[in-house]
Amino acid sequence: MSDRVIPLVDQRSRVRPVALSNEPHPATGHLLDALSRPLRDLRISVTDRCNFRCSYCMPKEVFDKDYPYLPHSALLSFEEITRLTRQFVSHGVQKIRLTGGEPLLRKHIERLIEQLAALRTVDGQPLDITLTTNGSLLERKAQALKDAGLQRVTVSLDGLDDAVFRAMNDVDFPVRDVLRGIDAALAAGLGPIKVNMVVKRGTNDHEILPMARHFSGTGVVLRFIEYMDVGATNGWRMDEVLPSVEVVRRIASELPLVQLDPSAPGETAERWGYADALGRHDAAAGEIGVISSVTQAFCGSCNRARLSTEGKLYLCLFASEGHDLRPLLRGGASDEQIADALAGIWQGRSDRYSELRASLPPEAPGEGRRRVEMSYIGG
Ligand code: SAM
Ligand code: SF4
Ligand code: SF4
Repeated sequence: MSDRVIPLVDQRSRVRPVALSNEPHPATGHLLDALSRPLRDLRISVTDRCNFRCSYCMPKEVFDKDYPYLPHSALLSFEEITRLTRQFVSHGVQKIRLTGGEPLLRKHIERLIEQLAALRTVDGQPLDITLTTNGSLLERKAQALKDAGLQRVTVSLDGLDDAVFRAMNDVDFPVRDVLRGIDAALAAGLGPIKVNMVVKRGTNDHEILPMARHFSGTGVVLRFIEYMDVGATNGWRMDEVLPSVEVVRRIASELPLVQLDPSAPGETAERWGYADALGRHDAAAGEIGVISSVTQAFCGSCNRARLSTEGKLYLCLFASEGHDLRPLLRGGASDEQIADALAGIWQGRSDRYSELRASLPPEAPGEGRRRVEMSYIGG
């Protein structure tokens, strides 16, 4: 892999200190950013470590034994995460996604879930709490996660062909064990389960139809994600992106599809249902989703904030700088001061990288270095 770009600068150190504001921002649950987008979805990365080395996310050449992962003292504790989340919720967050790295590697993650499950939205509703996992530890942990208050899981699986999957996770992990994890999650009631497949043209695009056949009629919602230019280490190339329209076309050539309405505002996936003989959605056969992060930007409705493992707030998956919240937590700021600071940051947000991608000048070699890694801020 001689053309792979290795980052020379550790982007995690690019931070904006967060100033305490003198201007109070009442926590009304209706906070808008500079483009009038509300804050609804918080993705929390609970570890920067992973037991897989998917080449599109944590290539082995970079994430080797010498990689400077964060020390334990740098990570936010569960109490710190919950305290911050409470302030995010006061500004309108309704949905939490735990991610990483591999979130099930974080010890006692179910204790964090218990704490988050006790929070209530401004309308007094429980939060929608979900988790994205590579599935490797799910068989063992599904029931404890459910008991702690987790509602659903999303499992990543890039193909059913064992050789293809083992090569993509690059640690020789078998498909069978991920499928067992999915079954355990179904049995524990962590549904409806979503399965995420990142499609790389020439690597696993021949697995699209086998995956669609396998999961149709099982209640599992299979979602195809366009391979994205996140981070700076995956050697991304546009010619390896298979546009979602092509995914839909290939599936529909064998299994007819009808387009479905979005399930919620800000929903990233376009939904397609399997059709019956009359061309209507056959609910028993289920549905798929396509996430066209590259070919069809959805920044206009992006209501997501991302919290890194050590407390930096990122306003976009492609941001190069985070807002450092940990000094507030560890420096004696009050809850009100933290809530005011979050409001000031969100109100200043104007990120819309995917919409601008096509009009940006071509990246100079190494330019992509300015972005943080997906394994650090989560997907
Ligand atoms: N380790 C967990 C997992 O794999 O599900 C959670 C973290 S992972 C960063 C979250 C999601 O991001 C996964 O579904 C993964 O497939 C996706 N992802 C990672 N790198 C990506 C890329 N370059 N393009 C598109 N999706 C990517
Ligand atoms: Fe790990 Fe998930 Fe990244 Fe794969 S996509 S390397 S499983 S964090
Ligand atoms: Fe949201 Fe940034 Fe993705 Fe646009 S590029 S949808 S703003 S995370």
